[in-house]
Amino acid sequence: MAAYFVGVDLGGTNIKAGLVDEDANVKIKFSVPTGIEEGPDKVVANIVAAAERAIAEAGVDRKDVAGVGIGSPGPMSHRQGLVINPGNLPGMKNVPLRDLVAKATGIPTTLENDANAAAWGEFWAGAGKGVQDLVMFTLGTGVGGGVITEGKLLRGYFENAGELGHMLVQPGGRLCSCGQKGCLEAYSSAYFLARRAEEFIAEGRPSSLKTYVDRGEMLMAEHVVAASRAGDELARQVWDEACYFLAVACVIMQHVSNPQRVVMAGGLIAAGDALLQPIRKYFKELTWKLLDDGPEILFATLGNDAGFIGAAGCAWQAARTGEW
Ligand SMILES: [Zn+2]
Repeated sequence: MAAYFVGVDLGGTNIKAGLVDEDANVKIKFSVPTGIEEGPDKVVANIVAAAERAIAEAGVDRKDVAGVGIGSPGPMSHRQGLVINPGNLPGMKNVPLRDLVAKATGIPTTLENDANAAAWGEFWAGAGKGVQDLVMFTLGTGVGGGVITEGKLLRGYFENAGELGHMLVQPGGRLCSCGQKGCLEAYSSAYFLARRAEEFIAEGRPSSLKTYVDRGEMLMAEHVVAASRAGDELARQVWDEACYFLAVACVIMQHVSNPQRVVMAGGLIAAGDALLQPIRKYFKELTWKLLDDGPEILFATLGNDAGFIGAAGCAWQAARTGEW
């Protein structure tokens, strides 16, 4: 008997959903509005409708659907199946999403942190396929992450393991949005590296990026990447620093969970080799010389599909282990 899994990636604007088989092949995928402006009940109804649509449109036998996996923004609790109070889902406060969806569909359901789900997706079906120990950094507006160790997702006592963006890479350094000073995110996220460039410009340092600031435009990470490529000294410094601290984070993770692979995901990977090469170079310089146990550092391969594929994969794992 074939087994299929519904994957749902709950975002602030859209719900991405799909049906995936037990070998992680995507049978169908689509995206619908989250509908948060209509309240939490409507969001739950939209998730249930998306799950039903995925099953119906894939044309599979309902009894072969062995689970539903949902990736939700945090704060949330996997153990309690609870969406606690995500910043991008105003009003979704203490919603027992796992049980609501399980009840409405009649299918066992699991709820996972969206960053963990995406890492699980790469582990199951993407750049981490075939390894048991994987660390993923998602480089977007912020820096997210996920850690898989010995084939299991690391969650931790408070369920906040894998918050890799708040790894302290420079104690006393730049202030992060979380209140800590010197987080990885404060240097290596798209948002903060652009702010870093703006600050240098405000100090009077010359840069081609000043034209954006002078026009009153918000400087973006892609502007910094492009200027760095073109040889702009300030942009190069900011970009180099972002890569340097990612390498620092890789060395820390090497000694914490000893991954076979580290996967970089998110919008910043559009920079290509300009991202990977300096990270690999700095990693070599920074890591210990005692043993040669550094991870391969690679790009993720699933793009925006990692979330729903990973959520389906979490259901696949739950069905195997019986731990929903
Ligand atoms: Zn932080």
